[in-house]
Amino acid sequence: MRTINPEANQYNLVLLGPPGAGKGTQAERLVKDYQIPHVSTGDIFRASIKAGTALGREAQKYIDAGELVPDKVVIGIVQERLKESDTKAGFLLDGFPRTVPQADALDDFLRPAGRPLSAVINIEVDPEILVTRLSGRRICKQCGAVYHVATKKPVQDGVCDHCDGQLRQRVDDQEETVRKRLQVYAAQTEPLIRYYQEAGLLRQINGDQDINRVYQDIVHALEALAND
Ligand code: ADP
Ligand code: AMP
Repeated sequence: MRTINPEANQYNLVLLGPPGAGKGTQAERLVKDYQIPHVSTGDIFRASIKAGTALGREAQKYIDAGELVPDKVVIGIVQERLKESDTKAGFLLDGFPRTVPQADALDDFLRPAGRPLSAVINIEVDPEILVTRLSGRRICKQCGAVYHVATKKPVQDGVCDHCDGQLRQRVDDQEETVRKRLQVYAAQTEPLIRYYQEAGLLRQINGDQDINRVYQDIVHALEALAND
């Protein structure tokens, strides 16, 4: 386990990048090594859908169409989650914010509480690779762990290495929906790169490398942050 440099306060992090960039894959390891909670809005919605809640029913309409869930809904969920005590010593946001109003709301919530963002890690990947990544993605039905049919196979075909759960393809990873999601990303989320660059928070990571190399680059960026 990596210890948090007390001089650097805490890691209040955002993972930014297009669908398929590898945010969830990197988050799985980062949250273990840095002992911070993983706050993935996509995972929260999928859990609500599975549980059949009103939120799940509302979110599913947008998710299956490859569209974004309305800002008001997502912002409320993240604010509630960030009020929980386990996030007070740091957190890793994955898939949030995805629009400028979400980023503004996050800042309005964190800054007055004296817990501003430490950095925004932007995982960059060539758009042509993303379709292959997403169409080959498989996730564990039980624990949500992420696999790929070519680049991250489980030990036993179709079975999760962590919990023996069954692997499945996400409904929104079908090619037509993937293309829609990439368009939505370009129109609504990509502007956040400049937004966070101007705020001095952006750290660029080349996501077109193998999973371990990407991880090492993120760790180096975080170490540089701790030494700033
Ligand atoms: P995101 O959370 O950004 O949508 P994921 O972490 O779910 O992306 O990764 C999308 C797919 O690409 C998954 O199937 C994952 O196993 C695979 N993947 C992630 N990172 C890499 C990488 N560096 N090289 C090759 N495949 C990757
Ligand atoms: P993800 O698991 O991050 O790929 O998210 C899956 C889907 O959940 C997205 O395509 C959106 O429909 C929805 N979603 C997740 N996070 C957000 C967000 N921050 N804003 C709006 N919609 C979101």
